[in-house]
Amino acid sequence: MAWFLPRLLLALAAVLIGFIVGVVVRSITGVEPLALGLGVLAGVITMMLTDAIRGYRLLEWLRGKQLNNAPRDTGLWGELGYRIERAVRDRDRSIDRERLALEQFLSAIEASPNGVLMLDPQEHILWCNGVAADHFALDPKRDLRQRITNLVRAPAFVAYLQAGRYAEPLVLGNGRGPGTLSIVVREYGEGQRLVLSLDVSERLRNDAMRRDFVANVSHEIRTPLTVLSGFIETMQQLPLTGVERERVLTLMSQQTQRMHMLVADLLTLSQLEGSPRPGSDRWVSLDALLARVAADAQALSGGRHVLNLKPHTGVEVAGIETELQSAVANLVNNAVRYTPDGGGIEVCWRQLEDGSGEITVVDSGPGISREHIPRLTERFYRVDGSRSRETGGTGLGLSIVKHVMQRHGGELMIQSELGKGSRFRLVLPAARVRTSSDAALGDEAAFSTAVSSDY
Ligand code: ADP
Repeated sequence: MAWFLPRLLLALAAVLIGFIVGVVVRSITGVEPLALGLGVLAGVITMMLTDAIRGYRLLEWLRGKQLNNAPRDTGLWGELGYRIERAVRDRDRSIDRERLALEQFLSAIEASPNGVLMLDPQEHILWCNGVAADHFALDPKRDLRQRITNLVRAPAFVAYLQAGRYAEPLVLGNGRGPGTLSIVVREYGEGQRLVLSLDVSERLRNDAMRRDFVANVSHEIRTPLTVLSGFIETMQQLPLTGVERERVLTLMSQQTQRMHMLVADLLTLSQLEGSPRPGSDRWVSLDALLARVAADAQALSGGRHVLNLKPHTGVEVAGIETELQSAVANLVNNAVRYTPDGGGIEVCWRQLEDGSGEITVVDSGPGISREHIPRLTERFYRVDGSRSRETGGTGLGLSIVKHVMQRHGGELMIQSELGKGSRFRLVLPAARVRTSSDAALGDEAAFSTAVSSDY
């Protein structure tokens, strides 16, 4: 009721003006009714004018964008302006809050790894996130309100969308490259639809790889098993002489050995995949490691090759000793196995300017033609299957080497040319290489710290 007093005062002012006008008119004209009439009229006009001016100002403010405050009047109009302004501000604040919530919601959907696309009942695009735009080759701004079936014309997609049976997802080729999408549609609101898309190419590739892997392992195990069961049958059914028996048992032992190696390599691979990345605080002397590899390689070669396997490196490398040794040993053993008698095999060490280092295994063997090189580290990939098996290969060696290097932050690089030998490089990052003198300095520093803290 704070507005009532100013209103009352205004009414009194209007009456006063009316009274003055009445008195003036009566003194000039002397006609009483005219003076009364004009006095009342003047009072009413005064009230109406002030109301009209204040109402107009409030109306003008309402017509605009209400950026400033409402006109600050006293009385009823002031109260009205203030109340309207408060309602407008409350509405603006709640619109801002809703807009913010909507923006956050949309940016959450935008960040989703899945494609999200909203369609109206006529299949027009209402909104889509970047992933959906990428999946369906759409422009998220330009293609809004376009009919999706005009833009994504894959017959399977159009039929799926229009059939309205969305219980099963649709699996669709991406159309751009070899990607594959899994598409799910959900209905909501009044005939709107939500189209969710997920790129499943990686999953399908992994499934295919897993199937291939199981098929390969089964094949690799079945071959020696078939040979073994053949020999067992022979021994059961045929009377063998001592010499024949000895020969069959040797062959059986070779096949058993082959299965043994295969299982060992499979176990190594699964351990490499399942265990955490090696820390870079366990240092291994590279010279000692190379000496052990060289001893095994000499035994394998049996003097058939010219070997130069023990460079003096004077460095230490950080990582898991057994893994690093198995990587180098795999390369050196391959070189021995594939290089014909009389050929040469060399192991070199080189430290690069950036501190990284590389162990290189070079041989003068048959070399590998260019098209095979990118596939050599695939499991069970062999250039010459019979030669590999003949020499006791499992087809997993280079795959193991690649895994070991990746786990140590390094890489395996292969250079080879048919008829000109091969060069396999194991590159280790700078953080995993230190010279033995650095190591001694480090130990000394640690010792002096311990000494100074003791005394
Ligand atoms: P495997 O057990 O068959 O040797 P790897 O994974 O170690 O399996 O090697 C994969 C293939 O790469 C081998 O089958 C062989 O064809 C080829 N290869 C590896 N090392 C050499 C090499 N030093 N010289 C020629 N070919 C090689």
